[in-house]
Parts: sequence; structure tokens; C-alpha cells
Amino acid sequence: MALPDLKFASPLIDEETIAGAAEVLRSGHIASGPWVQKFEAELSRFCDGRPVRALTSATAAVEVALQLCGIGPGDEVITSAQSFFTVLNMIVKVGAKPVFVDCELVTRNIDLGQVEAAITPRTKAIVPTHYPGALADLDALYALAERRRLRVIEDAALVLGSRWKGRNVGAIGDLVTFSFHPNKNITSIEGGALVVNSDAEAKEVEALRFHGIRHLADRTRDVAFPGGKFNLPDVNARIGVAQLARLPEFLAKRRALADRYFARFASDPACVLPPRPESADGGQSWNMFCVLLPLERMTMSRRDFREALETRGIATGVSYEALNLCTLGRRHGGRDGQCPNAERIARETVTLPLHAAMTLADVDRVCAAASEVIAAARG
Ligand SMILES: *Cc1c(COP(=O)(O)O)cnc(C)c1O
Repeated sequence: MALPDLKFASPLIDEETIAGAAEVLRSGHIASGPWVQKFEAELSRFCDGRPVRALTSATAAVEVALQLCGIGPGDEVITSAQSFFTVLNMIVKVGAKPVFVDCELVTRNIDLGQVEAAITPRTKAIVPTHYPGALADLDALYALAERRRLRVIEDAALVLGSRWKGRNVGAIGDLVTFSFHPNKNITSIEGGALVVNSDAEAKEVEALRFHGIRHLADRTRDVAFPGGKFNLPDVNARIGVAQLARLPEFLAKRRALADRYFARFASDPACVLPPRPESADGGQSWNMFCVLLPLERMTMSRRDFREALETRGIATGVSYEALNLCTLGRRHGGRDGQCPNAERIARETVTLPLHAAMTLADVDRVCAAASEVIAAARG
């Protein structure tokens, strides 16, 4: 099959950024250096002054965040079954036990009532994943975390630029992770960041992302914890700085595309849509447009639907499979029927393209194709 011409994601890297990256390459200082510091300072400003450290991915940021909380064997970490594999993988990787709870069907955010019920004396942290359109209720989440003395690691990979009561995600709360993978709201090729509470925690992150090394007074080094190798190169940070400056423009573009999706889907086809913020801005960022297909009224599988769209040149995805039902999840207590909403989303969801390089006409084309394919598949 030919590659779809309407891609799933398509980063916008301008010529100034490319020239800037070339300059960093020529400078000879290509590993972590001044651009990482600048990127971290800009991200910190974005988070109302909270310390931020850059890492090679959001996955690295989640791993380091769990280590920063001292989470390991014997500990339990509660997460939603509707998230990307990162969350499950890193909880298992640090030796902790993942505890799955369900999500809400429309917002896909973690069900806080179920979190409360899942807490045991061994629970150390909650890892909620935020979705475009509506954030998890941060007031309720942090009230619960404080009452039960739990750490929170917000997986904000998809929602850089979303706001809670007027403040950016990352500006409030406990630990928050961002991704700068090319599919996200901004990119540094690969890259991620971890927002922390204090300079002391930031120092810990610096050790955890670089071999666990601490510098001693006699100018030798010591390692007390097996740290990773997750420092972001300066070439990536240079790109990240330029991208962050364009975030408002990217967010406005994405919002206009989401509005168009909502307008087109209002009449047809009958899919479950993401939550639509009340005001035009609404403080929400948009990354991907995930709908639930009316499969019970279609004589077609999701796989066939996706192939029909791809035949029309439109790339699609699945965001996400249910974590409790993947092989690793099942090995850690996941079972069928445990998280009905997450499992229904996993069966019925399809991700439609939504990225800043698209036009409104592209959205019209996706919606026309989806309508046509679903109409033809009506039993
Ligand atoms: C993309 C994504 C991640 C992983 O980000 P990387 O930077 O690729 O490691 C984690 N969680 C969610 C919800 C994501 O969408």
C-alpha cells in the first residue's frame, strides 16, 4: 500500500531552527550544554518558575520520576488502564506493582473514585495521564493525594499548553512529565521533561539522568544509585527552544482543526467524540482527534475501517490499547472486564490526524472519508 499522504503527525521545523541546529553542530558542543540550560529555563518560565529538567524522552522522565519518589520493589503505583505503554513499562521496570483502575469514557481521564478504592498501605503514587479536551480534575486529584499521602506523577505528554483554572499544566501539582516526540504539541526530535518541586529534587534528577554520578570535594565521583543515561543533547534542546516559542501558534492551529472536527462530526457520522471545552479557547490543547466508532452498527471491523481510510491516503492510529490486557499487564494482574471503559475505548477507538501542518480542508477530507466508509458499512 502507498504511504498515506495525510500523515498521522507532521512536525513543523522552520529554516531558522534548522540553521540554529547546524550552528550547534558546528560549535562542537553537541551533548548537553548551554542550550539544554536555556531550554530548561524556558520550560521553567512556562511552568511559573517551577524547576524543570530536560530528558531524552517522556518515558525517561516517568522512570526518573518514579526513582525520585524512591519507588521500587514492594510498592504499588495506581494508574489508568487507558494510557500509553510508557506508564506500565516504567512502573514494572523500577520493580513496583502496577494497579489498574478505569478511566471515564468520554474524557478518558483516570476515575478518581476508583483510585481511592484501590489505595492500600503499599500504595506510593498515582500516575494519571491527561488527555486533550479536558484535564483530570487536579483539585480533586491533589486533595486525594494529600489526604492519603501519595506522590503524583502527571503524564502530560499529550497536553503541553493545556491549562487548569488559567495556569499551564506543569505550573501546579507534584511531578509532571512532558514529551517532545514528533507527534506531540512541540518537538525536539526525541525529548522530554520533568517538572519537580524544588532545587534539591532537580539535583536528584540531574544525577538520575546521568549515571547516578555525584561529584565529591576531592574532584572524584561517586555512584550510590544505578542512574540512567537520559541527558538531552544540545542539538535537540536548540530545536526545543525554537519550538516552545512557537507553541501558542501551534496550539491555535490545532484548536481550529479540532473545532472543524467537532463541526463536521456534529451531524455525521455517529461517533463518540472527545469532550468539547465550553469556550472557544477553553484552556485545552489538542493533539490527535480520537473518536469511538459505532462498530455495533457497522458490518466492518476497526481494522477494515482503518484500511479503508488508509486506501484514501489518510493515516490513522489506535490510542490506546488497554494496559491491563496487554501481555505485560496480564502478567501483573490485568484481566478482561476489569476496566470496562478503558477496554471499550481500546476496542472502538481510532485516532484521526490532527497536527499543526494540516489545513481545514484536510479535516473535511478525513470527515468525508469517515462518513462514506461508515455509511457503506451500515448493516
Ligand atoms: C507519547 C507519550 C508518551 C511517551 O513519550 P516519549 O517522549 O515518546 O517517551 C507517554 N505517555 C503518553 C500519554 C504519550 O502520548
